[in-house]
Amino acid sequence: MATSSSKKTPSESSGKKPRSPAAKSDKGGSRPPPKASKASPKAAAAKPIKVDYLVEKLEEAHPALAELPPALDNLDMLVLAHLSQQMPLAEATKAFVGLKVQFVDWNEVRISTAGEVQELLRSAAEPLELAIFLKDFLQRLFLEQHHVGLEFLRTRTNPEIKNFFKKHSGFSESTMGLILERVNDYPVVPLEGSAQTFLERVGLGPPGTTALSRQKDLHEKIPRERVLAVALLIHEHARATCPPDEGEIDCPGCALKRGCPYPAKATRRKKESARRNSGK
Ligand code: SF4
Repeated sequence: MATSSSKKTPSESSGKKPRSPAAKSDKGGSRPPPKASKASPKAAAAKPIKVDYLVEKLEEAHPALAELPPALDNLDMLVLAHLSQQMPLAEATKAFVGLKVQFVDWNEVRISTAGEVQELLRSAAEPLELAIFLKDFLQRLFLEQHHVGLEFLRTRTNPEIKNFFKKHSGFSESTMGLILERVNDYPVVPLEGSAQTFLERVGLGPPGTTALSRQKDLHEKIPRERVLAVALLIHEHARATCPPDEGEIDCPGCALKRGCPYPAKATRRKKESARRNSGK
């Protein structure tokens, strides 16, 4: 994955939205993490994380995304997003690149044996099942469209795209959302429910903010061509480092700890609770 100071993000080729001010800052180099003010450390610590800081740190923590080809078409994006939900992001990236290198195109994946395909999906919990799912989808696509690709979705309305995914079940809402965002200007960074707690902890939308408005807000703050990468990075972080279960979060090992308001808040809460319990 491209960082703000290195090569560009390998991603969608259909960026229609002009780059936002936050996007411009991506080009200008690393923005330092927010520092606690000496006058009011508590107030500073409660500030929400900066989105460009969040993206930069997550990219550094997941350099495997840099291995992706520079431009992904709609079908590439769908397969990558689906793989990333079946295995850790680094493994999903490796599997995706392996499929692109080992097979001439997605049509060759379709006509290859499930055994050949599953060899590249070893990191999934059920590699054979995943290989069969992908091959079945590609086969149905071929029978319907006489072509193995999803570019035809560019001319479809949102309800038509949703119907397509109803018919081809097995892909998540957020994966479908990535297609809607790309082909039909659906202005959100599509995220699974598990990512919402993470966004709340880093201060992107206070408690009570709807998932949709949080995702729209995030979309406004990143360049259009980075939507796929940011969605993948957030999902990975929410799964591996900052899951909804508070007992499983790893703040000390987190790449965002210097900019995230949550550890300071949690420490304050613990101290207050200890004070209450001791009766002071
Ligand atoms: S793991 Fe901790 S520091 Fe990292 S994002 Fe989650 S709450 Fe913030």
